[in-house]
Amino acid sequence: MYKKVFLTNTFSMSKLSRVFLWISVLFYPLFFCVCSARRPQEHLSSIGVESTNDSALSLPEKIENELSSYPSLSENSSSESSDLPTTSDVWDVSTVDISKIDRTKKLIAFTFDDSPSRTLENIFAVFADFNENNPDCVASSTVFFNGYLFDESTPHLLHAACALGFELGNHTYSHYDLTTLTSDVLRIEIDKTDKLLRSVDKKERHLLRAPFGKTNEAVKKAAATPIIDWSIDTLDWTGVSADEIYDRVFSHRYSGAIVLMHDGYEATVDALKRLLPDLKADGYQVVNVSQLIRAHGCIFKRGGVYIQAKKR
Ligand SMILES: [Zn+2]
Repeated sequence: MYKKVFLTNTFSMSKLSRVFLWISVLFYPLFFCVCSARRPQEHLSSIGVESTNDSALSLPEKIENELSSYPSLSENSSSESSDLPTTSDVWDVSTVDISKIDRTKKLIAFTFDDSPSRTLENIFAVFADFNENNPDCVASSTVFFNGYLFDESTPHLLHAACALGFELGNHTYSHYDLTTLTSDVLRIEIDKTDKLLRSVDKKERHLLRAPFGKTNEAVKKAAATPIIDWSIDTLDWTGVSADEIYDRVFSHRYSGAIVLMHDGYEATVDALKRLLPDLKADGYQVVNVSQLIRAHGCIFKRGGVYIQAKKR
């Protein structure tokens, strides 16, 4: 009796296995097609960047779609390897071009976040016009880019920034609060935008500005460069006027300051038109962050968070 039941169950299991096998064979092609259709496509291949061909999607959907292509998000993933930089690493600025910087002047660094946006070319135009008329006080800036904002028209803006002597900075791919992300996603958020920028300026890594200025130990560990905060906040993103932006910078100015502005606001552009000549008249030269670090002889470390670069 026992033997009979056992044999019957064995036969049933074998039959069941065959059923599953046939289901697998018949439906595998359909399953494969569905999964493939959900995979993000590349539309920035011309500059060697992976992204989604999803112009019909809203921004949150684009970001969600992008995140869905990420690998396992486990905190304990083995991908957190030993090649990560340590906070003891000094950021090398020895090759930063400061040939057009007058070290006898007071230096102040301008930065623009959330780029590329609709006013980037206008910002470039203000700087280009100023530099053409003031070759003795050439102005520069660091622009912090978000990868998710890139499209096919972006590369020429990046080249224009480099031609103008601007520094390309990394504002992460998706502009998430980095303190909420796993270590895997943190690395991807930083690496993807580095790859975008590298295709233009050939630099392996770019200064990092954390979205919202929010960092923690995990962010510092993931950063391959110094993390650049600011000491003068224009609050331009809140919709303040050009006069208010101008006043916030001019009334708080000091040599070594790092000024936070944003791409996307005409008031910022209008404020720049007055700030550049007025700062020059007051003995300042506007520079980018790496120029400020080198010209002031500062030592910035990978993973360190800095709000200024005062002369040593
Ligand atoms: Zn931002």
